[in-house]
Amino acid sequence: MTDRHYQRSCVWLRRDLRILDNPALYHACDASEAVVALYVVPAEQWQQYHKSPIQADLIRRTLVHLRSELAQLNVPLVVLQAGSFAEQRALVQQCIGQWRIDALFASREYEVDEVARDNALQHDIEGNLDLHWFDDRCIIKPNSVLNGSAQPYKVFTPFSKAWLKELHSVGWQCLGRPQQMPKLITDIDDSTLPLCSLEADSWPYAGADSSAYAADGQEVIAQLRQFSAERAARYRADRDFPAIDGTSVLSPYLAIGSLSARQCLARLSHDHGSPWELAEGAKTWLTELIWREFYQHVMVAWPHVCKDKAFKPDYEAIPWTNDGQLFDSWCRGETGFPLVDAAMRQLNQTGWMHNRLRMIVASFLCKDLLIDWRWGERYFMSKLVDGDFAANNGGWQWAASTGTDAAPYFRIFNPETQSKRFDDKGLFIQQYVEQLRGLEAKLLHQAGAGGNYLPAVVDHKERRQMCLELYQQSLKKEAG
Ligand SMILES: Cc1cc2nc3c(=O)[nH]c(=O)nc-3n(C[C@H](O)[C@H](O)[C@H](O)COP(=O)(O)OP(=O)(O)OC[C@H]3O[C@@H](n4cnc5c(N)ncnc54)[C@H](O)[C@@H]3O)c2cc1C
Repeated sequence: MTDRHYQRSCVWLRRDLRILDNPALYHACDASEAVVALYVVPAEQWQQYHKSPIQADLIRRTLVHLRSELAQLNVPLVVLQAGSFAEQRALVQQCIGQWRIDALFASREYEVDEVARDNALQHDIEGNLDLHWFDDRCIIKPNSVLNGSAQPYKVFTPFSKAWLKELHSVGWQCLGRPQQMPKLITDIDDSTLPLCSLEADSWPYAGADSSAYAADGQEVIAQLRQFSAERAARYRADRDFPAIDGTSVLSPYLAIGSLSARQCLARLSHDHGSPWELAEGAKTWLTELIWREFYQHVMVAWPHVCKDKAFKPDYEAIPWTNDGQLFDSWCRGETGFPLVDAAMRQLNQTGWMHNRLRMIVASFLCKDLLIDWRWGERYFMSKLVDGDFAANNGGWQWAASTGTDAAPYFRIFNPETQSKRFDDKGLFIQQYVEQLRGLEAKLLHQAGAGGNYLPAVVDHKERRQMCLELYQQSLKKEAG
């Protein structure tokens, strides 16, 4: 796409909030005399999806930076406010008409409601203008990593091998900054549009401060570079210990698209060699990026996971006890299990939680508290700065054993053993649970911390047994 054959194009930004390696923006600039960028906040829709206020705030701050970076490219950014996806779509159509747009450029989103919105838009405007969709969320696009029977993979390890093979055959490219500078449009009429201010006070989805996370694209890239240069080589050794700064904490940026997975791969390759020949640390980090792709591909191949359904239908019948008080104690980080509580407090205070801890608290909610994984999935979405439907749903269904390539139902984490193994000195626990500071490490891991803390809300041994019976009974019923 090199001829400038459009007079005016519109880039509808979604989860691709960046200048570098943004295919929709890059190609719009390449192919058009003038370009305008649009972002539409669907505030009520976000509420329905339990989007966390902290992620919404990160999006707002990222848009502030993006607006000035886009201005340097002569691309004005218009931010509008809608309620639902239907209103969002209608507004995009209104802008197209009002601004005399002759091509729309956008990156695909793969969740079912988003796909339905885009199909409806395509249906309404096809023929009136050109639509260019880009697969930006994954390095290898969904539906293109298939097994010998041309079916999508349900199991991660063969997926990962096939993914690397596919990468080898199709390659990947990081686009960098747009090469062409469009002419500045000076007559954008937005007087009749519901403009959305990027001031914190007027943002339609307020309530949290994301200032601990980078909103400036250059700072995000600096964090990627620093992780790759200084910590990726030790990733395999350090990644499971929450008291160590061993993982990248790039998930907030990958979730909103202020960073692309291709940029991560390019940096890793630049510092550590080709993706097929990486040493252990960097290779393990790449495997995590492939997990991210796996869950996106699973969601596209089995969209029922977007509709509150277990990946494995047999596991729909588990009679969760769903005790509201136990759920509240888990949400507040007051279960009496020190590591679980420290983890939940990390989530509540920072919007982020270490992966090892996500696995532990998710297993604890489902298999010790016997609460439906969907309750936890929603709570996570409402708090996480990196909330991403596919990764979150995949993680929860893995922990509850209802998902693709999930932990078997009889694998039940013992919170005390996990605590001794992954936080042996109790440094992480003491960082988040003030009451336990100064207590000797060997007491820190026990439920109730040996009488020095909140009483444990359940007895792990007892609940383990109950959990096994619950799963066994419901699976037997399904089989019968
Ligand atoms: C119950 C549960 C819920 C989760 N919810 C989310 C979520 O909403 N959003 C989210 O991005 N991740 C989620 N994860 C996956 C993982 O915990 C986070 O991606 C990771 O902790 C982010 O920290 P990081 O950036 O330091 O990761 P790193 O260890 O540095 O990994 C690099 C990147 O790979 C991706 N990644 C790593 N592990 C996984 C994984 N298991 N599944 C999918 N992608 C992965 C992330 O994009 C991450 O930023 C969840 C995991 C579990 C068990």
